[in-house]
Amino acid sequence: MDATAADRPRLLWVNVLMFALTLAAALVIVPWYGFTRGYSAAAWAWFAILLYANGLAITGGYHRLWSHRTYDAHWSIRLVYMFLGAMALQNSVLVWAAGHRDHHKHTDDNDRDPYSAGRGLWFSHIGWMLRRYPSGEPNFDNVRDLQKDPLVAFQHRYYYALAIGLNVLVPLALGWLHGDLWGVFLLAGVLRLVVSHHFTFLINSAAHAFGHQPYSDEHSARDNGWLAFLTYGEGYHNFHHQFAHDYRNGIRWWQWDPSKWLICSLSWVGLTRRLKRTPAVAIQRARLAMQFRRMEASLARKRASLPHVDLEHLRALLAREYEVFTATLAKWTRLTDAWYQRTRSELVQRWEEASFRSETRALLAELRLQHRRLKLLDAQLA
Ligand SMILES: [Zn+2]
Ligand SMILES: [Zn+2]
Repeated sequence: MDATAADRPRLLWVNVLMFALTLAAALVIVPWYGFTRGYSAAAWAWFAILLYANGLAITGGYHRLWSHRTYDAHWSIRLVYMFLGAMALQNSVLVWAAGHRDHHKHTDDNDRDPYSAGRGLWFSHIGWMLRRYPSGEPNFDNVRDLQKDPLVAFQHRYYYALAIGLNVLVPLALGWLHGDLWGVFLLAGVLRLVVSHHFTFLINSAAHAFGHQPYSDEHSARDNGWLAFLTYGEGYHNFHHQFAHDYRNGIRWWQWDPSKWLICSLSWVGLTRRLKRTPAVAIQRARLAMQFRRMEASLARKRASLPHVDLEHLRALLAREYEVFTATLAKWTRLTDAWYQRTRSELVQRWEEASFRSETRALLAELRLQHRRLKLLDAQLA
């Protein structure tokens, strides 16, 4: 054995076997059973229902509720998340959130981000769970707030019993109920687990490698509509890394984000509360700042590759746009400062609130207009 192989952290055999055996069963036994016996409609229906139930418990519960505290949820919702999240077999909330908070704190730092994209697609997808890497050791100091939640503490304590029990008993019970024991077990048990695993893992691998970076390029996270479709809305990962305290990942109405729709509709019946949203102006500010960065870089590239072409008028236009941008931001700062002073010092009149809102809307409209102008300018640069 060479030195590098000997230095590698030891394999976590439980994880290796769990991932390998479930994958092998999904690739061999599931199709074999389908071709020889066929699957009932109930088996397919339970596959889809449990896939979504597990997925939403991870995204809505593990991720947006517990890891990022982007909203508050009634105990009944946390109870459901706790059981369905354990069934997704991605470790306890405590371990998951401890690692995820490190992922955000040290994104792309190969020594401290547990699933750093810098270590390659295989590592960030699944490799990080197959060996005892120092970067993967959960730091429970990160999750002191969650340890106070009795449901989280209970799940952590009985995680293995819950995870194994739910993965075996629920599919078998459903199969027995429909008179299709093995069919339901194979689709809603085995295939559901493997698909649920790899769809979620795509967030750590593909969503840090493929897609756009509309809000920041200071981290590898990307927005990707296709991934959002597979991952219950989590594919708008560039937005998420930039505004991790927002309960939404897809902010536009047409962006596929069922986790957001779930959290929002639960708030209508009082089961979720205090949903955190990033102010629209802050989102536009990030988007425009990114646009300027990108355009300045392409202007510099163009200047280097075509030194004989006069780009002065484009440079001047961009500089003027940047001045307008800075002036709009200064207006925004003055407006919010004055607003916070007023809310702190006296009772705010309704007309004052209305005028603050309308001024904010006007600033937002200016930023949106500028975004469109910059797109046109960008087309000239291309
Ligand atoms: Zn996150
Ligand atoms: Zn990420």
